[in-house]
Amino acid sequence: MLVNATEMLQKARDGHYAVGQFNINNLEWTKAVLLTAQEMNSPVILGVSEGAGKYMTGYKTVAAMVKAMVETLNITVPVALHLDHGSYEGAKACLEAGFSSIMFDGSHYPIDENVAKTTELVKLAHSMGVSVEAEVGSIGGEEDGVIGAGEVADPAECKRIADLGIDFLAAGIGNIHGKYPANWKGLDFDALDKIHQATGGIPLVLHGGTGIPADMIKKAISLGVSKINVNTECQLSFAAATREYIEAGKDQQGKGYDPRKLLLPGFEAIKATVKEKMELFGSVNKA
Ligand SMILES: [Zn+2]
Repeated sequence: MLVNATEMLQKARDGHYAVGQFNINNLEWTKAVLLTAQEMNSPVILGVSEGAGKYMTGYKTVAAMVKAMVETLNITVPVALHLDHGSYEGAKACLEAGFSSIMFDGSHYPIDENVAKTTELVKLAHSMGVSVEAEVGSIGGEEDGVIGAGEVADPAECKRIADLGIDFLAAGIGNIHGKYPANWKGLDFDALDKIHQATGGIPLVLHGGTGIPADMIKKAISLGVSKINVNTECQLSFAAATREYIEAGKDQQGKGYDPRKLLLPGFEAIKATVKEKMELFGSVNKA
């Protein structure tokens, strides 16, 4: 059974650890993340971007696959199915499709419009028991064609959005989606601390978790970050393992071309990455 992400993130905040959001792209990804969460006895959030949702033929397909897989794999740890960087229309579509959590990313709207749309979606989502993540300010890098400038959110705007009854808040603190540039300045902990103080202890979300050094992750958790999004890192480890398999000519040996064999090293690589992140975030045995 899917749960919303509210309780698991409140527990994470109170217990000073973070729950990983791992974005999924297909069956192998989903199976790898779910099985690792169960093995690690960790709560988990499956993230679905609008692009990945389209790729998997729609949110209904995703919700049906995830629900069935949780049941058939006997997954008993808390699992939330969460829309990542949702538009207003996307958020509504996911509510209808049976997601247990949504992000409405109104960060590119003027703050008043972000407030209005977030307010409406919170009311609708909460009436269905679904948790809501909202975002203030833009987070750097590119995700599904959306480019941000690595901005740092304004604590007063964060408070305005947090006060709308949302369940957790994404706020830019110098983090970037995708690979970090060599000249990246690191996370802005001063900004994080101010946002944490201004928002009354609401669980905070760190996007762009790939490539942030472990000590910065730990410090961010100590300053109120309770959810960390990991996407690119699983893609990189999947691609590297798959390339190694093909470069070694294994797809040309026996039935090595069988997709169940061809995709296995990438599947194992995703599992290893997810395990490593759960250990770093401190969510092991917190289910
Ligand atoms: Zn993000």
